[in-house]
Amino acid sequence: MLVVMRAHATEQEIAGVCERIQSLGFRAHVMPGAERAAIGITGNHGPVPRSEFEDLPGVAEAIPVSKPYKLVSREVKSDDTVVNVAGVLVGGDELALCAGPCSVESREQILASARAVKSAGAKLLRGGAYKPRTSPYAFQGLGEEGLRYLAEAREETGLGIVTEAIDVEVFDLVEEHADCIQIGARNMQNFSLLRRAGRARKPVLLKRGMSNTLEEFLMAAEYILSEGNYQVIMCERGVRTFADHTRNTLDLSVVPAVQRLSHLPIIVDPSHGTGKRDKVHPMALAAVAAGASGLIVEVHPNPEKALSDGFQSLYPQQFQELADDCRAISDLLKSRRLAAV
Ligand code: PEP
Ligand code: MN
Repeated sequence: MLVVMRAHATEQEIAGVCERIQSLGFRAHVMPGAERAAIGITGNHGPVPRSEFEDLPGVAEAIPVSKPYKLVSREVKSDDTVVNVAGVLVGGDELALCAGPCSVESREQILASARAVKSAGAKLLRGGAYKPRTSPYAFQGLGEEGLRYLAEAREETGLGIVTEAIDVEVFDLVEEHADCIQIGARNMQNFSLLRRAGRARKPVLLKRGMSNTLEEFLMAAEYILSEGNYQVIMCERGVRTFADHTRNTLDLSVVPAVQRLSHLPIIVDPSHGTGKRDKVHPMALAAVAAGASGLIVEVHPNPEKALSDGFQSLYPQQFQELADDCRAISDLLKSRRLAAV
């Protein structure tokens, strides 16, 4: 159920609706909109009678939500959500570029990466301190030490930090250091982790699971929003198919599909999406052309020596070229949109 307020409903009227929702034992989610606020209801296990709300002051209408996901849906919020990551607006007018190594390997490596991606125009630095690896014998990340190096890189360069929380155990520590908490593909349906992310005070980057449908992807985001964190960035990072010329198949059609159904911004990871360095640049261009709000790209100062995902990591010079080309496409699309209005 969604309670849509009148255009000039007061704070008090909104609070009145929230009180009524809470008195019924449900949770109220106020979604401010460009035109008018709407209030989503969660926690109900059956239909909620409209009559409970329609007579309250400031209410325009109460409408049932037809989709299984509610808060992520455009039915609940029609205008695009812009997520603010340390001052970088993801889903706004500018293409948001996030780049850096797969793993934080050393202080020198992450500082060199941060300087390189910053000079190419990235505003956010990625790098895992905790790594979800297929093999228990592979490099698992530097843990807290890695988080400290990321914080140092932020201090020196001003870049916002995106880093992964692989489980509930490390979540507090990651939340303390990160500007945006990544939930990895392997954890997209780790529901206790999603709930914890929903109680975080930082934005969340939610990567699509490698075998998950669009609906499952949206429902995973719904878990986060249902706990009160509305700052979620969706991320397509490739899915498993029969194709074996790439590590994954980058499903770019999910970009417009998410945008149609949800107000949340979506970015693309062409690095994991292809797994091959030479495929990253063309697929990044395609992602921007398809309307992605940003990119997350693996870049390493010395990919041959990388402790994880070296094959798909760009050399800094290659990232510079990618960033220049992607911005050119983004600017072109923006100027055509402006000319059309
Ligand atoms: C990563 O970003 O390095 C990573 C492990 O990504 P994914 O969860 O998409 O595999
Ligand atoms: Mn990686």
